[in-house]
Amino acid sequence: MIESYFRPKSLVAFCFVFGLLRVAGAQNQQPKPPQPSWAAAPQMTEKQQANYSRQLLDELAAIRNAALKDDYAYRQLAHLTENIGPRPSGSAQAKAAAEYVAGELRKLGLEVQLEEVTVPHWVRGAETAELVEYPGQAPESRQKVVLAALGGSTATPVEGTMAEVVVVNTFDELQALGRNRVAGKIVLFNELFDKQKSAAGMAFAAYGEAVLYRGAGPKAAADLGAVAALVRSVGDADFRLPHTGWSGPAGIPAGAVTAEDADLIAHLAAQGPVRMHLTMTPQKLPNTTGYNVIGDLKGSEHSEQIVVVSGHLDSWDLGTGAIDDGAGVVVAMETAEILQQLHLRPKRTLRVVAWMDEESGGAGRQQYTKDHRSEFDHHAAAIESDAGAAHPLGFDVHMGPRAVELLRPVAGVLQGVGASALQPSEYSPGADISDMSDAGVPTIGILQDGRTYFHYHHTAADTLDKVVPAELRENAATMAVMAYALASMTDPLPR
Ligand SMILES: [Zn+2]
Repeated sequence: MIESYFRPKSLVAFCFVFGLLRVAGAQNQQPKPPQPSWAAAPQMTEKQQANYSRQLLDELAAIRNAALKDDYAYRQLAHLTENIGPRPSGSAQAKAAAEYVAGELRKLGLEVQLEEVTVPHWVRGAETAELVEYPGQAPESRQKVVLAALGGSTATPVEGTMAEVVVVNTFDELQALGRNRVAGKIVLFNELFDKQKSAAGMAFAAYGEAVLYRGAGPKAAADLGAVAALVRSVGDADFRLPHTGWSGPAGIPAGAVTAEDADLIAHLAAQGPVRMHLTMTPQKLPNTTGYNVIGDLKGSEHSEQIVVVSGHLDSWDLGTGAIDDGAGVVVAMETAEILQQLHLRPKRTLRVVAWMDEESGGAGRQQYTKDHRSEFDHHAAAIESDAGAAHPLGFDVHMGPRAVELLRPVAGVLQGVGASALQPSEYSPGADISDMSDAGVPTIGILQDGRTYFHYHHTAADTLDKVVPAELRENAATMAVMAYALASMTDPLPR
C-alpha cells in the first residue's frame, strides 16, 4: 500500500470494549437486560433470513472449511515471490507475473483479459552515503549510512553530492529554517514512526502519520533549495533496514535512511555540523505497458452484476512483495479456485483482479475506472486485501449501516476463524478500489492483524518466509466466504 491510503485501525478500542463486555458478563448474575444488537446471539433478522438461504449458509461453511485445508494460495505466492521475484511497475517481472496469473486463472476456467495499462518505469541504481565530517570525528574516518532511494527519485551526479545535513522533525521546523539555512543542504526529515501505537494494533494510523514526510517532504525541501532530501524510514523494523516507497516528484534526489541512521545523524547534528557524501543513481526510463489481470467466473443468474476480489500484483523492488501484496493477489485467486473445487457457481459474476501499479501512482486503478466506469452501477461490491497476510480479524467496510447489518451472517460463518469483525471505515479500505468506493460501490478490505506488517513492508525483508501458511489459509477463507456471500445472496447490498 502507498501513503495516499491509510486506514485508522482501532483495534485497541475494539479489544477494550470486548474486555469490558467479558467482565460485565462474569459479574452479572441478574436476569440479563436486552442486549444491544452487536452483542446479541447470532439470530438473523427477517431481512438477513431473506438474503441467506439455509443452502447458502451451508455453502459458505463448506467454502470456509475447504479454504482452511487448501495450500493453493501459498503455492501461488511461492511462485510469484521466488520464481518471478520483485515486481515493480514497468519491470520484466511485473509483466511475467501478469502473464502467469492470467494463465493460472485460465486453468481455473475463468474468462481472462490482460488489460493494458501505461505504467512508469523507474529503476534503482547505486545508493551509498557516508558521513564525512561530524563532531568528535576520529582522524581519517568516515561513517557509513544505510539508505535506499525512494520511488521516482532523481539521481545525484555519478561522483555523488557533498553537503551539510540539516535535521527537522516537521514541516513547520523546515519552514522556520527558511531558504537561507536550507538551500544547498541535504534535509533529513526525522519524524518517528510510533512503535507503541503500532504494537497496540494501530499500525496503519502510525503509518499514516509518519508517511506524510516520505510523500511530501522531498518536494518541500526542494522548494527551499535543498540539494537532496532524506526521510527516516517509515516502519518499525529494528534491523537497520531502509524502507522505500512512493514520494511526490521533487526534482531532487530523495531517499530513506534507516531509523538507526536517522538517530545517528540527528544526534551528531545536535552537536555541530555534519556533512554527507551522498550517491544515488536511479533512472527514470520511458513509460511502458503493464497489465491489470481480470478473470471472470460468470454468474449463473445475474452475470452482469460483478463482485470484485483483488490484490495488487506490482511490488517494490527491495524485497519480493510477499506481504505487499502477493498475498492479496493469491487469496483472490484462491477464491475462484475454491469455488471450482467445490463446483459452486455464484449467482453474480466473481471477478478476480490483480492490479498493476498500486505502488507508484495507481495507473492500474485509473485505467480500470476509465474502461469500466459505466459498469460501476452493476458492481455489487469490491474487496481488496492489501494489508499483509497475518491473521485476519474480519473486515474494514465502507458502506452504509443497513449494508453492514446484512453482512452479519457472513461474520457468523467466520467466527471460528476469528475473522468476524465488521469495522466501518470512513475511507476506501483499499487503494485500488477507491474509485469504485467514490462511485458508491460497497467496498471491503480484509482487516489483518497489522502489528508486524511495518517491520517488513517496503523493505528487503518482505519475503515469503514472513507469510505463515496457516494464516494465509485463514485469509483465503475470509475472502472466499465474503465474496461468495456477496455474489450469491438474494439481493445485492443496498448502496
Ligand atoms: Zn500494497
